[in-house]
Amino acid sequence: MSFEAVIGLEVHAQLLTRSKLFCGCATAFGASPNVHTCEVCLGMPGALPVLNREAVTLAVRAALALDCTVHERSQWARKNYFYPDLPKGYQISQFDRPLATHGHLDLEVEGSARTIDILRIHMEEDAGKNVHDDVLAGSRSYVDFNRGGVPLIEIVGAPQIRSGAEAAAYMRELRRTLRFLDVCDGNLEEGSLRCDANVSIRKVGATTLGTRTELKNINSFRFVAAAIDFEIHRQIAVVEAGDAVVQETRLWDAQAKVTRAMRSKEEAHDYRYFPDPDLPDLVLTAAAIHSARATLPELPAAKKERFVDALGLTAYDAALLTEEPELCRFFEAAVAGHKNAKGIANWILNELLREARGQPLAALKLTPESLAELVRLIDDGTISGKIAKDLFAELVTAGGAPAALVKERGLAQLVDTAGIEATVDAVLAANAGSVAAYRAGKTNILGFLVGQVMKASGGKANPKIVNEVLRRRLG
Ligand code: ADP
Ligand code: MG
Ligand code: ZN
Repeated sequence: MSFEAVIGLEVHAQLLTRSKLFCGCATAFGASPNVHTCEVCLGMPGALPVLNREAVTLAVRAALALDCTVHERSQWARKNYFYPDLPKGYQISQFDRPLATHGHLDLEVEGSARTIDILRIHMEEDAGKNVHDDVLAGSRSYVDFNRGGVPLIEIVGAPQIRSGAEAAAYMRELRRTLRFLDVCDGNLEEGSLRCDANVSIRKVGATTLGTRTELKNINSFRFVAAAIDFEIHRQIAVVEAGDAVVQETRLWDAQAKVTRAMRSKEEAHDYRYFPDPDLPDLVLTAAAIHSARATLPELPAAKKERFVDALGLTAYDAALLTEEPELCRFFEAAVAGHKNAKGIANWILNELLREARGQPLAALKLTPESLAELVRLIDDGTISGKIAKDLFAELVTAGGAPAALVKERGLAQLVDTAGIEATVDAVLAANAGSVAAYRAGKTNILGFLVGQVMKASGGKANPKIVNEVLRRRLG
C-alpha cells in the first residue's frame, strides 16, 4: 500500500515593533526577567489594553505581501486557558473574524514551482515564558513575563505540503519574505519565528484527509524537515501495523530525533473563545489598505527575477543575493553607485563574504559606495585587479575612499607604454634563458615573463599593454 503525506503549517512570527501589542512595554529580547512588564501585560484587574498601531501596520503589510484579502473589520477574541505564563487566564487573539484570509506563498522546491495557500493570518499577543531550573535544590520553576504581550501574527497554511523538504522550503520562503518586509527578524533560536506542523497520511488517491498529529517545539530549519519526515514514517508504520493514528500533540525531541506524545485530543483545550469586551473591532479603511498595498516593497522573488532579467546576473548569484535583506541592500546600494552589477555581485559573493567572516556587513568599514568606487576604478582601467584586491582587504578592515587612496599612494596602473617598455627590456635582459627558450618555440613561457614584468612594476603595469609589448619585443 502506498501513502502520501499531508502537512499544514501554523507559523507564529513576532512583529518588529518596539513596544508590545497592548501596552508601552519594550519588546527587546534578552533583558533581565520581568523588566519589561506593567499592569496591562501582567493582567492586573482593571488594566485596559490599548492597541499598538505599528503592530497593525506590520501585520497588514505581511498579509498583503502574501496576497491575502485584508478585512476592513476584524475582531479581537479571548482564547481562554490556564497556564502559569498567562496571567490574565486568556490570550487576546482573533478567532472567527481574523485580520486576513485567502492568500498564498509561492516557492521553489528542488527546482520546481509550488504554491501553498494561506488560509488566514490573525494577530495575537504572545504568552510569557516558564523557566524551569533543575540545578537549584528543589527544582524551582519561574515565570518571565517579558515576552507576554509581544505582538505576533499567526500564519495558517493550507494542508497542501507533501514532505519535510517542502515544509522547510515554505518556512525559508516565509522567513525571507517577512525579513525583506521588515515585519519580523526571522530569528528561530530566539523564537521570533516558530512553527507548529500538522501532519497526516492517507492512501495515494484518497480525497479525504487522514487523522493528524500536531508537532511542536521545532526551532530550526533542519528540524522542520527531520521532525516531519520522522512523523510521516511513524504514522505509516502505525497504519501498516493495523492500528489507527491518534489525534494528539507531539513534541520533537531534537536529541533523540523522534517525536513524542504530549497530549491527546481528550486533553485538548476547549478555549471558549468569545469577543474581547475591552477592545473595539479592528477597523481599517479601504483607503488605508489600498495605500499599504501601494507602498509594499519589492519582494525577494521579484528581486531575484529582476537581477537576472535586467541586471544580467546568473540565477545562482541572484538567488544568493536575495537570501538576506542586508546583503541584498548592500548589493543594490553599490549598483546604484556604479552600473556594473555583475562585477559588483562578484566582489560581494567572492570577496566580501569571505572577508566578512560571518560578521554583519554593518560591522565592516567597507560601504556600498566605496565598493562601487573600487569597481569603477577597475572598470575604467585606473587600477589592476591585483591592486584592487589588496585595496579591498584594507577597505573592509580600515575603510577609506578608494579613489583618494589610489591617488595618495600612486597605485594607478602604468599605462604609459614607454615606461612599460623600459621595464620589459630590463626583465628580458635579466631572463636571457627564458627569452631563448621562447624563441626556440616554448611560447608558453610568455606567462612567466608577464609575471616578471608585473612584479617589477609593483603590480601596477597594465597587463594588456605588458602582453603587447612583450610579444612585440620577442616576435
Ligand atoms: P486548529 O484550529 O485546531 O489548529 P485548523 O483546522 O484551523 O485547526 O488547522 C490548523 C492547521 O492544520 C492548518 O495549517 C491546516 O492546514 C492543518 N491541517 C488541518 N487538517 C489537517 C490534516 N488532516 N492533515 C494535515 N494538516 C492539517
Ligand atoms: Mg493548531
Ligand atoms: Zn506592559
